[in-house]
Amino acid sequence: MRKVSVFGSTGSIGVNTLDLLVRQGGAAAFQVVALTGGHNVDLLASQARELRAEIAVTAHEDRLPALRAALHGSGIEAAAGPAALIEAAERPADWIMSAIVGAAAIAPGFAALKHGTTLALANKESLVAAGPLLLAEARRQGAHILPVDSEHSAVFQALVGEEMTAVERIIITASGGAFRDWPLEKLATATVTEASTHPNWAMGQRITIDSASMFNKALEVIETKEFFGVDPDIIEVLVHPESLVHALVGFRDGALMAHLGAPDMRHAIGYALNWPERAELPVARLDLAQIGSLSFRAPDPVRFPALRLAREVMAIGGTAGAAFNAAKEVALDGFIAGQIGFLDMARLVESVLADMCARQGLGNAAVSLDNVLQTDAEARALGRERISTGRI
Ligand code: NAD
Ligand code: MG
Repeated sequence: MRKVSVFGSTGSIGVNTLDLLVRQGGAAAFQVVALTGGHNVDLLASQARELRAEIAVTAHEDRLPALRAALHGSGIEAAAGPAALIEAAERPADWIMSAIVGAAAIAPGFAALKHGTTLALANKESLVAAGPLLLAEARRQGAHILPVDSEHSAVFQALVGEEMTAVERIIITASGGAFRDWPLEKLATATVTEASTHPNWAMGQRITIDSASMFNKALEVIETKEFFGVDPDIIEVLVHPESLVHALVGFRDGALMAHLGAPDMRHAIGYALNWPERAELPVARLDLAQIGSLSFRAPDPVRFPALRLAREVMAIGGTAGAAFNAAKEVALDGFIAGQIGFLDMARLVESVLADMCARQGLGNAAVSLDNVLQTDAEARALGRERISTGRI
């Protein structure tokens, strides 16, 4: 039986992953090693019981007693905290889903790769902050990293049987998020509730707000560069409000291979789960005659400065991605907490990035786990300080 673990099993990607595991036979077909979550230990415990997991881990030490109580009598181990997450990632498994949100996924993902486990990577922050580190470790161990972000899964699928030398451009699409058509003046007063509604995809709150600010697409451009090892100049972003074309790959003979599908993450998750084969998946089939037309437009660099910042981060290199991601996470925390406005997020990220470059010269830093985590911590501290002193 295949041994699998799901990190972030209680989140949006995690729940969809478990849905597929259950549909493909559940505990009778998979040996589930670890499931991990955050505060919602009741959901975590019920998932662990259903899939007969070996261990359930909550990220929060103060939730351990509640997790233990919820698992009472099941024989399932309970653990808590960042070290327990790493220990769970080191347990032998064939396939691990990395669906923790944010930089907290970096260390467990790295630990899994060190043991040669195939890493299905929904967590784009890992590649933005520590791409060269994770890819080098995967190469060293002969481990596979499989993209789960829908655009990257689409590119990965379009590249099956192709040589990278024949690739001329990679185009990832963006729905445009909740504020696609909002004028700049209105963006300044956008609320958390308004930013938390996505027109096409049902996702966790943080990535939904990142979609509205285009920071999600900014992270994805860097993710594309890291994962596919391409020059940033060949990566393009195209606004496509229908979210049916997920990405396109352009080849040197002028051909464009597009990947289309319903906006349902179970496609990308299922592709990574069954790779290199394809299994039947419970996603809606597109009726293109009924859909009729698809529309595309260029992203607006004035209303959405995040894409420009991503280009700057790629030009700096080194640990700039770690600083960028951490600053973005702090900015998002500040926006969700009502401390800063919607447009302040990009301003804050830009100023923290400038601070960090001045202090550390990020581009020269080696991308080691220590450097990444230290840069992450420093950028967070600077971002929080700027928020608390109002120097956005
Ligand atoms: P979510 O907020 O719904 O779930 C996050 C999971 O991580 C939960 O299980 C939560 O308990 C856990 N978690 C949160 N903070 C943690 C911490 N500090 N330590 C350990 N665990 C923690 O998020 P999501 O929408 O499922 O997204 C998960 C990841 O997948 C993100 O990196 C996101 O960018 C990426 N992603 C999501 C989608 C989507 O459709 N939701 C699409 C593409 C990529
Ligand atoms: Mg995506």
